[in-house]
Amino acid sequence: QLILLTGASGFVAAHVLNSLLQHGYNVRGTVRSEASASKVRKTHSHRLNGDDSRLSFAIVQDVAKPGAFDEAVKGVDGVIHTASPFQMQVDNNERDLLDPAIKGTTEILKAIRKNAPQVKRVVITSSFASIVDPMQGIRPGYTYSEKDWNPVTYEQAKSGDGGTAYCASKTFAEKAAWDFVEAEQPNFDLATICPPMVYGPLDHDASLDHLNTSSADIFRFMNGSQKEVGQTAFPAFVDVRDVGEAHVKAYENPQSCRWLVTSGNFQYSDVCEILKRTLPEYANNIPEPTSTPKVRTYAVDNSHARDDLGIHFTSLDQTISDTAKSLARLQEQA
Ligand code: NDP
Repeated sequence: QLILLTGASGFVAAHVLNSLLQHGYNVRGTVRSEASASKVRKTHSHRLNGDDSRLSFAIVQDVAKPGAFDEAVKGVDGVIHTASPFQMQVDNNERDLLDPAIKGTTEILKAIRKNAPQVKRVVITSSFASIVDPMQGIRPGYTYSEKDWNPVTYEQAKSGDGGTAYCASKTFAEKAAWDFVEAEQPNFDLATICPPMVYGPLDHDASLDHLNTSSADIFRFMNGSQKEVGQTAFPAFVDVRDVGEAHVKAYENPQSCRWLVTSGNFQYSDVCEILKRTLPEYANNIPEPTSTPKVRTYAVDNSHARDDLGIHFTSLDQTISDTAKSLARLQEQA
């Protein structure tokens, strides 16, 4: 089977690609340029077992452009859509976050309906951002699950800070996908994956100057720029390898639903403690874990992902120590 993987150059997509190849799928990745295609080929060539034909590329410069995916979808059996901006600091919420997230999602669905009637299943990378209600804060005693939706309005998204706009971009993109399926009754089923903060090893062509947002969230505790542990903005996490696997398992599962994929809660004090233990040579840069007391926060229910997708979620210790080693390797090469 040939799977179209959008945004193949990204942090999460690198692990979706790993899992797809490992499960025997052939992959056509969408990237913005030939240069980006070469980088993905380089980072993943050792996973092709000498058969380069298993990985091909289609250039899609901007997912929000009308007809963006019309060519890329032709001839594929299934689609996994990860491409979407994950940034918290932008100049224009609508242009930089909301449009690419929402239009990117509707464009791929329209392209499939138009040019790929053979596609039976589509998996979209949504986010815990489309589940959590940020206005409720850390909400001790509450347990979030797939039944929850972020109640943000489009007006709040347009004028709010970058974090609000990012969370809204994922919420409206996922809603647009479910609305499309309900209104159009296309040939394919839809499933969405909703991860909270994704950490773990960086298997894409990463650079410390342009780290993806969630890896940068850990690196700031290693490079001396973060002096205090501070409050944990989104106290739930998942390992990127589990997210990769979840996309493939969701592709193979017949249910049309959303899955909250998470190992559970965490706080930055735990992260700093693990970093100090894993990287003693960075210890002076890392804030004292005890400097910020732990607080009680909301809980997250991963039972559906465990039951339906059979995922054994990775521990925080494993995830953060592997993130740390991966970032330290990048630092050594810099
Ligand atoms: P990355 O920034 O590493 O990846 C984003 C990918 O999307 C890149 O391939 C990027 O291409 C592509 N992209 C973004 N905007 C456009 C556009 N307008 N046109 C074409 N391509 C575009 O971030 P992540 O890997 O972290 O994010 C991947 C997905 O996972 C996103 O949907 C994100 O919302 C979701 N997610 C991530 C979480 C995390 O903690 N990392 C948590 C929950 C969800 P390029 O590299 O060329 O810019």
